[in-house]
Amino acid sequence: MHNEINDQLREKFQKAERVLITAHIRPDGDAIGSVLGLGLALTDKGKQVSMVLKDGIPVSFRHLPGADTIKRKVEGEYDLRVVLDCSDLLRTGDVMDGHIVDINIDHHITNLNFANLNFVDPEAPATSIILARHLTSWGLSINANIAKALLTGIVSDTIGFRTPNVTPETLRVAANLMEYGSNLSDLYTRALVRRSVEAVKYWGAGLTSIQRKGRLIFSTMTLEDRKAAGYPGNDDADLINIMSNLDGVDVTVLFVEQPGGKIKVSWRAQPGFDISKLALSMGGGGHPAAAGVELIGTLAEVQERV
Ligand code: 5GP
Ligand code: MN
Repeated sequence: MHNEINDQLREKFQKAERVLITAHIRPDGDAIGSVLGLGLALTDKGKQVSMVLKDGIPVSFRHLPGADTIKRKVEGEYDLRVVLDCSDLLRTGDVMDGHIVDINIDHHITNLNFANLNFVDPEAPATSIILARHLTSWGLSINANIAKALLTGIVSDTIGFRTPNVTPETLRVAANLMEYGSNLSDLYTRALVRRSVEAVKYWGAGLTSIQRKGRLIFSTMTLEDRKAAGYPGNDDADLINIMSNLDGVDVTVLFVEQPGGKIKVSWRAQPGFDISKLALSMGGGGHPAAAGVELIGTLAEVQERV
């Protein structure tokens, strides 16, 4: 099934001269890794590439080669527009407003197939692994910098190879990327282990607010908490991944207040649950075990709805 689409992608990448690549707001390691991986591969083939992430890049990923070339706004004209790691166009922020989307490459089961060409593999543990598997069949090559980006994406989305969708093949792809000279320990530590004091202080607020209803826990992080902690991002500083490890808990929900009267909702669930459908029904998306949505309203209103 993928052969035909691979041929189409190969042709599109070959023909393109000016390529726009973007991924989702509040970018994680997979969004950044896949944008850099494809962006650097196309740059190597002499294409003019613009990599755009609406929210820029968090400090923890700025060490990646090419990260300093990622812009926050689209400028100029393009003949190929690619969206990565997004299940719908809202996820790009306003980056794609007024642009046709030519290519959508993603691994979310809730993907809306919004582009002319959609390569969606819900079984892939990361968008970066789709790229690592197929770049060469699209006429592109992997080098040391691209390998670093893609390995970061895989390590991030699998939370260090511990999500249930990790297979022997995941490890083989990661091992192949390591052969390009990537330091797995360093990439892993930067993506998942090292934290800023501000992030941990922000966690403190979220941890203090945890409430429990049977096997479900939920918590909130307000803009005031964020300000008090001095945390620069508008994400949850990864607190949800800590909360979702708690014993006796099946489902974790985190409400993160955003500027402009919006609330970011994140769900995590243990194997056997599927929260992607709930997220999709509320206008968001994700995976069975990890999903999210951004809703308009106050914390109290959004909590009530969810
Ligand atoms: P997180 O809760 O860490 O932001 O995201 C968990 C998963 O759900 C990720 O795979 C992410 O891409 C997806 N997700 C989070 N928020 C949204 C959203 O607002 N819309 C969609 N379509 N997917 C989301
Ligand atoms: Mn991803």
